[in-house]
Amino acid sequence: MADIVTPEKRSRMMAGILGKDTKPEMLVRRALFAEGFRFRLHRSDLPGGPDIVLPGRKVAIFVHGCFWHHHAGCRFAKLPSSNTNFWRNKLDGNVERDRRAAEALRSAGWRVLTVWECATRDKSVVLSIGALVHRWVDDGAPVGEIAMRDSAAP
Ligand SMILES: [Zn+2]
Repeated sequence: MADIVTPEKRSRMMAGILGKDTKPEMLVRRALFAEGFRFRLHRSDLPGGPDIVLPGRKVAIFVHGCFWHHHAGCRFAKLPSSNTNFWRNKLDGNVERDRRAAEALRSAGWRVLTVWECATRDKSVVLSIGALVHRWVDDGAPVGEIAMRDSAAP
């Protein structure tokens, strides 16, 4: 097929396509790839549509934005000061949906790891994120979370 789009248009199209993959998710993927993991992406047939799936290990990984998934106690998850009730209801709904998805995955025999966006913003965590995920996968724990070291409230 002839290439009829200009380079400018093509690069815009590519940006649009790549746009659905958030930066934190790309970062986690690169780290996993460097650790030697091979994975599937966006398994929408699974509960919650995990961002990354390690099929051989039966591991489902979510890369969650701290605000939208309301990372408890995280400094990036502060409620806006206006329309607070609206946001609380909306974000509570997201948390509940995440909880149900993790539960459904668990009862189908999947292990569930959440990598919070704040972990990808923490220089001391981000360099070892692949190793942290690797350790969790080998460890065999049914559920886990990776977050910025000091993101949680005391
Ligand atoms: Zn967070």
